[in-house]
Amino acid sequence: MSNNIQSVRGMNDCLPDAADTWQAFEAIVRDWLRRYGYREMRTPILEHTGLFKRAIGEVTDIVEKEMYTFVDELNGESLALRPEGTASSVRAVIQHNLLYDGGKRLWYTGPMFRHERPQKGRYRQFHQVGVEALGFAGPDTDAELIVMCADLWRELDIAPTLQINTLGDYESRQRHRAKLIAYFEAHQDVLDEDAKRRLHSNPLRILDSKNPAMQALADNAPRLMDELDDEALAHFDAVQRLLRASGIAFEINPRLVRGLDYYNRTVFEWVTDQLGAQGTVCAGGRYDGLIGQLGGKPAPAAGFAMGIERLLALVEAGGRPLAVPAPDAYIVHAGEAAERFAWQVAAALRAAGLATVLHCGGGSFKSQMKKADASRARFALIIGDDEAVLLQVTLKPLRGTGEQTRIEVPLVIETLKNATI
Ligand code: ATP
Ligand code: MG
Repeated sequence: MSNNIQSVRGMNDCLPDAADTWQAFEAIVRDWLRRYGYREMRTPILEHTGLFKRAIGEVTDIVEKEMYTFVDELNGESLALRPEGTASSVRAVIQHNLLYDGGKRLWYTGPMFRHERPQKGRYRQFHQVGVEALGFAGPDTDAELIVMCADLWRELDIAPTLQINTLGDYESRQRHRAKLIAYFEAHQDVLDEDAKRRLHSNPLRILDSKNPAMQALADNAPRLMDELDDEALAHFDAVQRLLRASGIAFEINPRLVRGLDYYNRTVFEWVTDQLGAQGTVCAGGRYDGLIGQLGGKPAPAAGFAMGIERLLALVEAGGRPLAVPAPDAYIVHAGEAAERFAWQVAAALRAAGLATVLHCGGGSFKSQMKKADASRARFALIIGDDEAVLLQVTLKPLRGTGEQTRIEVPLVIETLKNATI
């Protein structure tokens, strides 16, 4: 069968059992965001490549080597499958002038694409839920973004840990950058290929190196913290104060720099050691410069994105079991009058909001009951010609020890709605 067409490497099918879990997760997420006053925004999966180059930065992993880009043969434009959601969100906000009457709290979800080496927790099509608070400058927004994550973790019964850092503002970053370049230049012999390449383009990213041989060098590098001006320090202090007041534990990680260029001031990551190497389940921070950088009227902003695949892996590793909906009823029937009545019963149950599978394809009661069991339904509704004449249904619980009963349709609906099996 080797010449069958398979899915593209690093891109996964979400089969029905998994999709049940995703739906349960999405329902929790939607309600969580509603409770915080965030509203959904949907943007296209394809954007102009230039958007991501400008937003994320030319010298980042994403833009240098992870983007799926192609030339639209009709007009020669370079287009890209979105690798993340913030650039598109900001593009749309500018294009539609959404900030004209003040700040906006927005969220999105959907597939993102990065040409990475596929491994557990790292895929070429993966999914994010992202949250953007646009037009808000204060540390209260940064803290609320973090607190709302903690709230979701509580609901999912998972416990990633929080790392935070501040990247300061443009001037302090420039000062730090100059010191970093001088420091790394003085240690040329220890730099690996990646670091050499980044030395003058993006030296901050060298601090984020995963190469163990570079750890000591990175640990002793000049610290951005030492360059921060009073305003950025006060901002960071206020974030910490608000987190403490909300009972959120955190660790300050001065090496946390994030892989996207648009961040300033507060950055944070939620990490776990339960998923092996791909331990970051959610990451975000402040990006006050991005709206202006993309041509909008400058406005502050902050946000985060979580990786759904990694979060669900963490939930599976010990979080709250996400409810998998099973049908309420599976209707079996034999005989012509029974079939007519079975269709009416199915319609009545569905109108009452009950998930109802109507047996199709005929067969003996015995074979139909096997299908009913396999469907995971809570009840079988059995309809023969006897039942059809009396307009009754035989109701058989498929779980627990309850007895089967023959009752009228309104009572069936009431029983199914109140049953705890
Ligand atoms: P990493 O360091 O793991 O590559 P990143 O810094 O590239 O992460 P972000 O761009 O901040 O990740 O994306 C936010 C979140 O999206 C990550 O924390 C992670 O949970 C998830 N994510 C990112 N890339 C992938 C991927 N290729 N496959 C699955 N999830 C991903
Ligand atoms: Mg990455």
